[in-house]
Amino acid sequence: MSTGPQHGLVSLRGLGRDRLEGLLDRAQSYVGSLVSSELAGATVTTAFFEASTRTRLSFDRAAHRLGAHVMDLSPDLSSTTKGESFKDTILTLTAMGTDLFVVRHWLADAADLAAEWSGRPVINAGVGRREHPTQTLIDAMTLRQEFGHLDGLRMAIVGDIRNSRVARGHLEAFPTLGVKLTLVGPTPFLPNHNPWGVRVSTELDDELGDVDVVYLLRIQNERGASQAIPADQSYARRYGMNAERLSMLKPAAVVMHPGPMNRGVEIDDAVADGERSLILDQVANGVPLRMAVIAEALGGTG
Ligand code: ASP
Repeated sequence: MSTGPQHGLVSLRGLGRDRLEGLLDRAQSYVGSLVSSELAGATVTTAFFEASTRTRLSFDRAAHRLGAHVMDLSPDLSSTTKGESFKDTILTLTAMGTDLFVVRHWLADAADLAAEWSGRPVINAGVGRREHPTQTLIDAMTLRQEFGHLDGLRMAIVGDIRNSRVARGHLEAFPTLGVKLTLVGPTPFLPNHNPWGVRVSTELDDELGDVDVVYLLRIQNERGASQAIPADQSYARRYGMNAERLSMLKPAAVVMHPGPMNRGVEIDDAVADGERSLILDQVANGVPLRMAVIAEALGGTG
C-alpha cells in the first residue's frame, strides 16, 4: 500500500510539494470551523495500541467536526486482553462498518497491514519508529502560520532522533517543503544512516545562532533509549533548551515540541511556557489538520 487520497495516509515519503501544500491549505480552511455534515454517515475508527493524549483526542474531535461517527477501540478494555490478534480486531471493526481507520501501534507496518486486511483507507497516527505523518503536517502548518512561508527556514531537530517517528516524518517532508534540517544530539541518538543528506551535529550550542526553529524531542524510554543516554541532568546540561540557550537564538526564532514534554530534561519551564514557544499552537492545529487528512481520505467535498 502506498499513499494517496484513496489510500489514507501512511507515509509522507515521496509526496510532492503540491500534495503537501494542498493538505496544509485545506487544513487552514478548517481553522475555527464549526461542526459540518461534510462526512455525515461515515464511520471513523480510532485504534490506538500505544498511549496518546493529543493525537487520539484530536482525531476524535476532527472526525466529529466533519459530522462523522467515531468508534474508539481502547485495546486495554477490549478483547485484545483476551488474546485476540491485531488482524482479528481489524477484521471485526471492518465488519462493523468502519470506513476509515486511524491506527497507532508499536509495529512499524501496522498501518499497511490494517489497510491490507480491511480494504479501507488507513491514517498512520504513529507506528513504531517509522513516521507520524500528521504530526509533521501539523508542524508545517504551524510554521507557515508563524513565518508566512516555509521555503528557506532552518530547523534543528534536537534529541532522540534515532527512535523518533516524528523526526522521520519531518525528514520525509520538510526538505520537499524547502526547510533545511540539521539533526542534533549525542551520537547514540543520531541516525546510523543519513539517506536524506541533511546536516548532522553533536553540538547544540554551535547550531543555535543559525536556526529559525528549534524542534525538541523527548527521550523515548519505551524504545530503550535511556539505556544509551539517560534522561537526566547531564543530558539537560548539554542538550536541554533553557533560558540561556534561548538567548542564543535569532530574535524571530521559535521553539517547538510534539509532546509529551519531559520538563527539566529536553525543555525547561521558561522555554515551554515562554513567548518563543509554539507548542500549544501545534496542539491547536491538530484538529484542523486531521480534519483535512480525514476528509481527503474519505473524499469529502472540502
Ligand atoms: N507524541 C509523539 C509520538 O507519538 C512524540 C513522543 O511520544 O515523544 O511519537
